[in-house]
Parts: sequence; C-alpha cells; structure tokens
Amino acid sequence: MLNRNWIAGEWSQGGGASVNLNPSDTRDVVGEYASANKEDVERAVEAAAAAFPAWSRASPEFRSDILDRVGAEILARQDELGRILSREEGKTLPEGVGEVIRAGRIFKYFAGEALRMNGERLDSVRAGIEVEILREAEGVVGVITPWNFPIAIPAWKIAPALAFGNTVVFKPADLVPGSAWLLTDILVRAGVPAGVFNLVMGKGSVVGAAIVDSRRVKAVSFTGSVATGRRIGVACMERGKKVQLELGGKNPLIIAADADLEVAVNVAVNGSFFSTGQRCTASSRLIVEDAIHDRFVTRMVEVMANLKVGDALKSDTDIGPVASEAQLRQDLDYIDIGKREGARLVAGGETVKRDTSGYFLSPALFVDSANAMRINREEIFGPVASVIRVRDYEEAAAVANDTEFGLASGICTTSLKTASDFKRRSQAGMVMVNVPTAGVDYHVPFGGRKGSSYGPREQGSHAREFYTALKTVYTRP
Ligand code: NAD
Repeated sequence: MLNRNWIAGEWSQGGGASVNLNPSDTRDVVGEYASANKEDVERAVEAAAAAFPAWSRASPEFRSDILDRVGAEILARQDELGRILSREEGKTLPEGVGEVIRAGRIFKYFAGEALRMNGERLDSVRAGIEVEILREAEGVVGVITPWNFPIAIPAWKIAPALAFGNTVVFKPADLVPGSAWLLTDILVRAGVPAGVFNLVMGKGSVVGAAIVDSRRVKAVSFTGSVATGRRIGVACMERGKKVQLELGGKNPLIIAADADLEVAVNVAVNGSFFSTGQRCTASSRLIVEDAIHDRFVTRMVEVMANLKVGDALKSDTDIGPVASEAQLRQDLDYIDIGKREGARLVAGGETVKRDTSGYFLSPALFVDSANAMRINREEIFGPVASVIRVRDYEEAAAVANDTEFGLASGICTTSLKTASDFKRRSQAGMVMVNVPTAGVDYHVPFGGRKGSSYGPREQGSHAREFYTALKTVYTRP
C-alpha cells in the first residue's frame, strides 16, 4: 500500500513513489511512499500559510492539548515505532525504542512550553509611555531533517514550531520516510487542523529545495550535512528567511591520565559506536594522555571484540548495520584513507557476513593517528574512531579545540580541577564530563558552535528563540 503525503488536510498521491529497504536485510521492503513534486510543496506551503492566522491565534491551551495527545500516542506506540526505526535506519531495537520515547517526551515537554510563550512589559525610560515586548509566531516553518534520528529530530523541530503557533511543512530524509509517515498519522489523529502540519516526502534536491525557495516560508530549520546546510543557509539569507542549521561534528573525547579506566572505555565505546557511530555527536577523536594510552587502547580493543554486529532487530545485537550502501562505501573509503595516511588500524573496519544481506561493518579503531589527518578532520559518520596520543592535558585541550567543528566534546577525568578547566576551555556547544555523548536531555539546549551550528539553539525553553519573533510596542495611553 502506498503511504501518501499529507497536504492541506488530505492524503495526497504526489508525483512518484519510492521504497525504503531494511539495511539489516535488503530483501525486506519496509514500505512504499509517495514522492512530492514542486507543485505539491507549493500546495503544502499555501495550506500552511492559510492555516497560520487561526492556529497562531488559537488558545495556547488548544495547541498544548494536541501536542500532549501526540506525545501520549507516541509513547503508547513505542514498540511499533521503535521497530520501524530499526527496520528503516538500522538502529538496534533498544536504541530505536529509546529514540521514540525521547520523541514522545519532547511533544509532552512542548505541550507545557506552549503555555509559557510570554512576552514582557517594561517601564519606559520616558514618562507617560508603556513598553511591551510581544513574542509572536514566525509563520510557515520549513522543517528539513536527516536520516540518523528519524523521529527525535523531527520531534524537536515540529513540537516547538507548533507549540508557539507556527504552521509546518515537513520534509524528512528520503532514506527514512516510514517513521515520518507514522508521526504524521499520529499528528493527524491527534487533531492537528488541516494545513497546520504538512508532510512532503521525496528528494532533497526537489522537495527540500522547493521549501527553501518558497516565498511564503518564513523560517527553515535544517539538520544535516555541512555541504547541504551551508547551501540552504545562503539561499535563506538571499530570500530573507530566518534559518537554523545543525550540521556535522568531529567531536573530541579526552582521556586524562587520571581517568577511571573502565569509565573511560565505557564512555568511549558508547560515544563512538552507539547508533553505529552515525551521530553528529559521535566521539570520533579519542585524545589520550601518554600515561594511560597503552592501557586504554588494550582495554578498548578487548571490549570492542565482544561487541556483536548484526541484525538490528535481534536481541543479542550490540551494533546494527550502517544505514545504506552509500554510507558503507564512505566508511570503507575513510578506513582506507586512514591506513594510507599512516594511522594503524587495531580493531574492526571490515565488512561482516551475516545470514542476511545487510550493510554490516565491525567498529573500527585507529591508533597512532595525528590530528591533521583527514580521518581526524572530516566527519566520517560511521563506526570509526581514532586515537591521538598526547603528552598531557594541556596538549589534549589544544588538540580538542583544533577543529572547524564545535558540537560536543568530552573528557574522562577524576580531577575536579581538570574537569572544571575543560568545561570553560572547550569550544563546543555541549561538554560531557565522564558521560558519553550518546545521552542528551530534551529540556536543555542542544547545538554547537563554530562550523557545527548556525542560529539559535534547539530544544528546551531556548527553542522559542528560533520559532518566535519579538515585537517591541510603545504606547502612550
Ligand atoms: P543531508 O544534508 O544529505 O540531508 C539532510 C536533509 O536535507 C535531507 O532531508 C535531504 O533530503 C535534504 N536535502 C538534501 N539536499 C537538499 C537541498 N538541495 N535543499 C534542501 N534540502 C536538501 O544529511 P544526511 O546525510 O541526511 O544526514 C547526515 C548529516 O547530518 C551528518 O553530517 C550529521 O552530522 C548531520 N547531523 C547533524 C545533527 C546536529 O544536530 N548537528 C544531528 C544529526 C545529524
């Protein structure tokens, strides 16, 4: 059965169709999905623009109740949704269900935030004048998302957009339309009025580009690759749109000489290989002080040898497949590049045969790598980490910051003084001390600095900065 787009309150056929395949077993077709064309996008934008006045003026309570119902339904269907995530993206079932729970909680959180969209009233510096700062919805928001968190990332954009009174045109990554479609179905059943939310599936170069180009889209929230993001950023500037970009990372994790070895290995394995390393926050540069280097590498290799790579739906699998053939090719290319650059591969990095045809790759660890190598400068977006040996903490902190990115950094140390220094010195938007980057809360800001992000932060109460506009009003009563 063809799963269609949702435009102007109706299921809509679109211009073509595509299927998504299970990366654990490419014989398993997850579903068939309509592809939108440029005209479909324009219809969706028109519907969103038409729905905006009523939705933005509806009571916050009305919007809040809908978001609350969406959150509750996502949580109630967590196993079904988690399975879809595993089947179309390849994350293990516990990871998939965990992501779904996060998405449900995000909707519930923003059901609360919808009630706190407060402006301010101030005394003027002049006598006889009142000053107010109003906070208003922006208008039609375009939401464009990547494939690696197929439900959590859409949730953390769509929920605040709707909470604060915007209407939405949502374009999910073409690799993962299944979870986007189910999320849409849940929004529709929860009573989102026609036009307020629209789903347009299909190719980025067609559907995504049409959203960015459309005159009536006032703001675009994008998460994805650096190359696409920067192009979208420039296009939005040229068209006078507000834009928020969450891009790549090349995240450092420092293992200080005084780190607890078991904690450090656990944080590194989790940070580097959770979600098969396909996370913008993955700890891909392990910066290890000389005094602990050999013990750390030995233990890391031991633990990695016990990680079972396999079908995402099997209960004994620790690491699922990479998401696509193209991604597998890219990971293998980088492993070759690392070897050619002179780094030494001490674990993994090979395709793994299983009884199904999937894109299985054993997690790879390089040692003797230098920060200047391409494997340490470019985002690989797969289960590949490399160790950079440093003399001491001073050198480690300098290497950690020596990158064009600044998304998430980490340190494992038992010294409060070192941790405290690194928290301040790190140039990343998120810093983890003895905690893997794989777990982040949904009620606090998420985002990076330098080349990793552009525009206001996502998530938590700070999300309102992107999804609302300020208006200053002067009144002489
Ligand atoms: P991508 O840039 O290829 O695609 C992202 C989205 O943009 C997709 O929906 C795609 O269809 C769309 N798109 C592609 N071309 C477009 C165009 N010309 N105009 C408009 N839209 C277009 O990224 P991806 O491969 O799906 O995701 C992986 C990337 O996402 C990685 O670089 C990763 O670091 C990044 N990411 C960042 C964060 C973060 O919060 N910083 C989180 C997750 C993923």
